[in-house]
Amino acid sequence: MAKRFVWITISKHYIFAFAILIGLVYLLSLPESYHLAVLSPAVVSAPVKYDVVIDPGHGGIDSGGIGEGSVYEKDIVLDIALKLRDFLEVRGLTVAMTRTGDTDVTHLASIRGTRHQRDLNGRFLAVHEGTVGISIHANVAKSPDENGAIVFYMRDSYIDQIYANTVLEQLERVHLLNHPRPIPRGNLLLLKAKPPVLLVEVGFLSNANDLAKLVDPRFRQVLAEAIGQGMINFLNFYRLEQSE
Ligand SMILES: [Zn+2]
Repeated sequence: MAKRFVWITISKHYIFAFAILIGLVYLLSLPESYHLAVLSPAVVSAPVKYDVVIDPGHGGIDSGGIGEGSVYEKDIVLDIALKLRDFLEVRGLTVAMTRTGDTDVTHLASIRGTRHQRDLNGRFLAVHEGTVGISIHANVAKSPDENGAIVFYMRDSYIDQIYANTVLEQLERVHLLNHPRPIPRGNLLLLKAKPPVLLVEVGFLSNANDLAKLVDPRFRQVLAEAIGQGMINFLNFYRLEQSE
């Protein structure tokens, strides 16, 4: 009887230890982007250093969408972003960019993981250094008829919705809209950042009219200025709101 008692006691300890081990292995095996998605709003405490952080989408081996004639999203959005930076800097704003050349943003990441996860993490950390952020992309759709710009903002964020409306108001003066209102999204990591961040799709590379506009540097300048004016208008409102 005594022997059996000892065996039962030991095996209970083993089961307990084994359960803890399994739990630890499970936690460590979770992709790091999972941790980030859950914890990020609390753990990123980078001080704000700039008025604006601009994130041109994609870059490096990630070309993003491709339009007819080998038009790469990464190139179109970088040029708009650089024009936007110049527009804002001339007006006295301090601006940082997640990239200024044809590279990805993995070097800014604080996590291990796939190239894509590190790239996204780098952008996410970077936008926290701005009072506001903006990520610029171009779309591709199966239907060649799909066209126009889209502004995405963080779902359920009142201030981000105002930011989105303010930028859209300027954008619709110079470009067709795919959707008449900004679209709320809850599943885009970049929009979950603490500062107000928008993701602007400047049009569809898969649409002939949008593509013809977007390959024209004059139109990209017009777009950059419209987005920039919207951002300045929002920043004026936002600073007033924060100081009250
Ligand atoms: Zn994109």
